[in-house]
Amino acid sequence: MRIITLLNKCEKLKSFVYKKDYLQGADLIIEIRARKNSKPICSSCKKPGPTYDHGSVPRKFEFVPLWGMRVFLSYKMRRVNCKRCGVKTEEVPWAKGKNTVTKTYSRFLSHWAKKMSWNEVAETFKTSWHSVYVSVREMVEYGLENRRLDAIVSIGVDEIKFGSGHKYLTLLYQIDKGVKRLLCIEKERTASSLESALEALGDENLKTIKYVCSDMWRPYLKVIREKLPKALNVLDRFHVKKKLNEAVDAVRKAEVKQMKKDGFEPVLDKTKYCFLKNEKNLTKKQKLKLDDVLRLDLKTVKAYLLKNSFEIFWGYKSPRWAKWYMKKWCERANKSSLKPMKGFVKTLTRHEELLMNWFKAKKVYSSGVVEGLNRRVNLVTRKSYGFKNYEILKLALFHTMGSLPEPEMTHRYY
Ligand SMILES: [Zn+2]
Repeated sequence: MRIITLLNKCEKLKSFVYKKDYLQGADLIIEIRARKNSKPICSSCKKPGPTYDHGSVPRKFEFVPLWGMRVFLSYKMRRVNCKRCGVKTEEVPWAKGKNTVTKTYSRFLSHWAKKMSWNEVAETFKTSWHSVYVSVREMVEYGLENRRLDAIVSIGVDEIKFGSGHKYLTLLYQIDKGVKRLLCIEKERTASSLESALEALGDENLKTIKYVCSDMWRPYLKVIREKLPKALNVLDRFHVKKKLNEAVDAVRKAEVKQMKKDGFEPVLDKTKYCFLKNEKNLTKKQKLKLDDVLRLDLKTVKAYLLKNSFEIFWGYKSPRWAKWYMKKWCERANKSSLKPMKGFVKTLTRHEELLMNWFKAKKVYSSGVVEGLNRRVNLVTRKSYGFKNYEILKLALFHTMGSLPEPEMTHRYY
């Protein structure tokens, strides 16, 4: 069977023909010609017009590789004498605009870019990082234009550190039971970051939102009140935990310093994660170290035990009893006379109402969802070493977490 026969089976062209195939070095070239009497399409207005001239050098378009060989479609572009736009390069059906990666290959590369890093994709298929980038961009652009944003009921707001220093990004997720996806990304974590994110959803689509899951970041809370006055603002368990962990770590840091000053044995060295990780996630070494330290009469141990007992709070079914427990817990934390823990109590008390909303919304979305999404975001940012650039990181995140719709394909190559 000839390669051209295969191509016609997978990807028949209307006004063009696959003329011949041959090897050029290690690459497989497939030459395309325009059908006789066919009119070129103006790339500007997308209407046919008379041919102005033929290019003398063929343009090569990357196609899906075959048996480890790179494959290129080769075609001498015509120019159209368009009565509306003047002389324009023609538009060809297998590639978008000036891209030299075919639409088919774009789909192929972007599919693999969800499973591997962009560098790995480029290496595996003997193409350039830039071709992978262009492919993902094309797919994300299509997806964002064609996605539906109606019927969103629950959303989550989160922030991630980005780059060096105190730079942040604001992320908006849909966290409904059936659909968990990234909706918007904005720079910084200011009020206007969240405003822009919500505006991007469109006023009409905000009307269906009943639950907003957020942390205690004041600018966010303000915007949620203003933009979604009817929605229930819920403080997420994950974010409260994070704050509590920060308090425990502050106690530990201060104690390490004090012990050093007083000339004590540095028993708390390298224990940071022993106190912060969930006990079941500790390594064997960390577990042993923790068991050792827990026997000592230390402020850090006190803070750690307080942290653990706060877990009970989340288990309550009735908001009334949860409230009772929280009150008791706060009294104990205050008595501990540990400054960071008292600070945490203040934060809790200040946001008590939002915190109690968690129990009202409990059954609507699963509690670990924001945490899970946050972990996936961090995985993408870490995996994508090349993503120091904001626009590229944005593409990568939408690509892997946006659940974006994809264009129809006549044949699947993977
Ligand atoms: Zn035109």
